[in-house]
Amino acid sequence: MDDQYRIETRSIHAGQEPDEETGALMTPIYANSTYEQDAPGDHRGYEYSRTGNPTRTDLEANLASLEGADYGRCFASGMGSINTVLNVLEAGDHVVTGNDVYGGTHRLFTQVYEDYDLDFSFVDMTDLEAIEAAFRPETELLWLETPTNPLMSIVDVERAAEIAHDHDAICAIDNTFATPYLQRPLELGADVVSHSLTKYLGGHSDVIGGALLTNDPDLDERFGFYQNAVGATPGPFDCFLVLRGTKTLPVRMDRHCENARTIAEWLDDHPDVSRVYYPGLDSHPGHEIARRQMDDFGGMLSFELDATLEETSEMVSSTGVFTLAESLGGVESLIEQPAPMTHAAIPREERLDAGLTDGLVRVSVGIEHVDDLIADLEGAIEAALS
Ligand SMILES: *Cc1c(COP(=O)(O)O)cnc(C)c1O
Repeated sequence: MDDQYRIETRSIHAGQEPDEETGALMTPIYANSTYEQDAPGDHRGYEYSRTGNPTRTDLEANLASLEGADYGRCFASGMGSINTVLNVLEAGDHVVTGNDVYGGTHRLFTQVYEDYDLDFSFVDMTDLEAIEAAFRPETELLWLETPTNPLMSIVDVERAAEIAHDHDAICAIDNTFATPYLQRPLELGADVVSHSLTKYLGGHSDVIGGALLTNDPDLDERFGFYQNAVGATPGPFDCFLVLRGTKTLPVRMDRHCENARTIAEWLDDHPDVSRVYYPGLDSHPGHEIARRQMDDFGGMLSFELDATLEETSEMVSSTGVFTLAESLGGVESLIEQPAPMTHAAIPREERLDAGLTDGLVRVSVGIEHVDDLIADLEGAIEAALS
């Protein structure tokens, strides 16, 4: 869809036209594996649904428009999309990435691709000199994430992309936490954007999916080759759910951001909370960069309760509106304790060194009434600490 339209309009219309035959507004679920050919090789754009499916095509066009990309490819999960970027590399190549990347990404890099003779350096990505120093002649990829999980660190995408390009490496970024509504990394110089559609883009905790967006036709062609050759493709019903989700992305994100900011400020003044990690707070070390590269600060935040591991576990188990669960980005608020949950695989000393304390709590702020959310957190803190 035309760039003249704003993201609120494109999120609803891009990639989708009313059905010519019936006038149906919404893209149908093309539950279909194969397609009629008029003569061998003479088809109407589709041969087999792993290679291409009309519901998927509309979603790919919609997501590309949101990120300001020429090309989009969808995958069966966020991990499926990240894996596809790694497929482009060859044995002997080196990758620079963050020491706080998403756990599944860390597992893919170290437990799958190190066995295929790729090498990875995990560095503090808020330190541009550390990024620069990690590059080697064989570095082919810089893999970024910002804001990071769970401490919401902010990486300067523009400067990091420059470093990658100075070294002839691809700069890819996982934009799951920010979404294209808040941050468009291709405009900041990144070559590839990866998404877990499972989170804000789907938005309703009812689907797993992934996507890659780029303006580089050669990279897109390779992603398309691996999409078909490896086969981690989403089904049409999953694509339909995400298409339904992206229509409300802007209104949902506005409320996620507004609620998260209000809760962050409330927590910041709370006597039992020693630290709040939210890039929208002036006190956040990445606040200035976040203001520059994001349109708002998102719906994710973490805070440190002045409490033991057990008291904190009690707190996150005592909420009534927030659900104790991993994942994020749905309309409903979720709460979790990284130490025994999402980050349990990290040895305790290493975890503490990284700032992931026993009292750390991460919340995915939903779009419920913010007063109900605050009352819920207050009640749970009281229940656990009194
Ligand atoms: C969830 C997530 C992923 C993995 O996506 P799946 O859809 O669960 O495979 C990757 N990166 C980030 C930042 C995530 O939050």
